[in-house]
Amino acid sequence: EGGSCGVRCSRRVIDADMDAITVPYGVTVVGTACDVHYFLKQPGKGHCQPERTKTLFEEIRASVTNNSNEDRSFWRPVLPWGGVYTIKAGRKAMACTPLYVRITLKNTCSIDGFLMLLYVILSENENFRRELPSYLGKEFVERFLYLMDSCKFTTVKLLWIWDKMEKCQYKSEIHKASLEIDLFGNEHENFTRNLENLMSTIQETFCSNGRCPARSQEDQRKTIIICPSHDSLLGDVIQAAVDELFCPRTELCEELGCNGQREFTQRIFCHDAPPFVILNMEQWKSEELPYVPYNLAVAKQRYTLEGATLFSKEEHHYSAAFMIDGNWMHYDGLRTENLVFLNKPPELLLLSSLVYIRD
Ligand SMILES: [Zn+2]
Ligand SMILES: [Zn+2]
Ligand SMILES: [Zn+2]
Repeated sequence: EGGSCGVRCSRRVIDADMDAITVPYGVTVVGTACDVHYFLKQPGKGHCQPERTKTLFEEIRASVTNNSNEDRSFWRPVLPWGGVYTIKAGRKAMACTPLYVRITLKNTCSIDGFLMLLYVILSENENFRRELPSYLGKEFVERFLYLMDSCKFTTVKLLWIWDKMEKCQYKSEIHKASLEIDLFGNEHENFTRNLENLMSTIQETFCSNGRCPARSQEDQRKTIIICPSHDSLLGDVIQAAVDELFCPRTELCEELGCNGQREFTQRIFCHDAPPFVILNMEQWKSEELPYVPYNLAVAKQRYTLEGATLFSKEEHHYSAAFMIDGNWMHYDGLRTENLVFLNKPPELLLLSSLVYIRD
């Protein structure tokens, strides 16, 4: 592929270039968005990157094993909130006055927790690393892992923003010579919805009434939003809610003037059962959740709990929890220590999502 751009990314480069052109004060912008793009695409280890003996994940995993009770947090900053990226003038622009244009990221917690979870999932499972490119693109998965492994946290966020988000999903404006990107918002809008067809499902329905105005219908969804069911207040309420969405059932037809019975078929994944699923838990109150199951069946496939994202309403802030080798860790980009080891499973009271990986 070399350095050439596909249709998808070149469209984004043009968008970003136009941002750069509007930099005020009549300055000549020599570092264009394409330089950033080129940087994102650098293969392997950059020349200025010192050789690392361990990837970030290997360091985290080693510290989980060696972690003593006094030392509750991981020593290195991991995906800190926000980010500043300095665009260095490209080689072609050397003749012009050198100028640095900054990109400043704000309110990144709406993607940070999921980026952390994605990194852990991909690092732990070699099979998923081979599988996920068919959903998210080979180049994206390679860049993502390379940037995370080498702790390039601002760049990995820019990769997500430019490769996976639509421009209308975030606010961006120019302040002096800095492009400010604000990701304030809902993490399911900013992350889950942008996972391409990973979790796409389809369910067909048929009405028993021959004169029904919409006898056969299709319900296609890109995300998995489950709702608490009023029938099952006891037992495994999450499995019951997943079953309600996926399993065959019959209901009264809701078409106007139709008294037929509407039959819902088994909901299936449009592609294969994905390596991981994110259950959107925004509709749940903590009192509706007696416990969170470790094992879950989704469309007849077994899944195991990997982590969760948490939402604090007071701070309008997201954080995440996940497991490595059976040990729980809490991630929060705003803390001085971003990764904290937990002695016991976290209390999943302020759930935004539950993340399960395929068995
Ligand atoms: Zn490109
Ligand atoms: Zn009907
Ligand atoms: Zn936040």
